[in-house]
Amino acid sequence: MTDVSRYFDQEMKNRKKIQISGPRSYVDSVEKILKDWIYFSYVGRAVLSEIYGSAQGTEVHIKFSSSSGADSSGVLEDSRAEGSYATDLTKGTGKGASSVLSFDLTCKLPSNLCKTKCTNPRFNLPRFVLLHELVHSMRHVRGKWRAGVTVNLNRKSLALEEAIGIVITNIFMSEKGDNKLRADHVSLDTIGPDVQSFVKQPTASTILDQIRADHPALYNGIAGLKQSKFPFNPFAAHP
Ligand SMILES: [Zn+2]
Repeated sequence: MTDVSRYFDQEMKNRKKIQISGPRSYVDSVEKILKDWIYFSYVGRAVLSEIYGSAQGTEVHIKFSSSSGADSSGVLEDSRAEGSYATDLTKGTGKGASSVLSFDLTCKLPSNLCKTKCTNPRFNLPRFVLLHELVHSMRHVRGKWRAGVTVNLNRKSLALEEAIGIVITNIFMSEKGDNKLRADHVSLDTIGPDVQSFVKQPTASTILDQIRADHPALYNGIAGLKQSKFPFNPFAAHP
């Protein structure tokens, strides 16, 4: 099968910022998720805007993956979708670097998390996995990725970057009416859309302040929606 490559730009501005490559059916499917779910969304569109506004010469390249090395790691989406990785995250210039997002559409659960019978959580649906990975890529192309910073989320320790990916994707899930949100990065645990108990967590402000400082347009746009559009909007609830 011949691979194809296409840029995604729903507004037809000819922006070469989000490239999708792989077999035609794969490119069609990813494009459909971007169009029907991510572009058709406050949160998704805010993430896309950040990517479109990144420095000249940077792009996000979404590449076909068939979950190679899928069992090699316990990290949920990063082993299945293989995450999105800039060439060397520790040597950034702060101006942003292109990001490769290897994405497996099947989003199978890692066997270490699913040894016995287990139900695929909603947060592992391809549209939510793709948005989570796009948040990582957004951080790369904007030059905001912070390696080695750890925070707590729902009593689990995790990398700040994963917390940022999880929080923004949880808001996106809530917007889409899915309120069994992702709790952490090491289990299949879910939490409800209780925004007050979320913002009261000891390191919630570390996570939220970082998003506000790094992506003010995204943050303030979503905060401005208040709780009227969807219940889980910690940007609106955070002082
Ligand atoms: Zn991740």
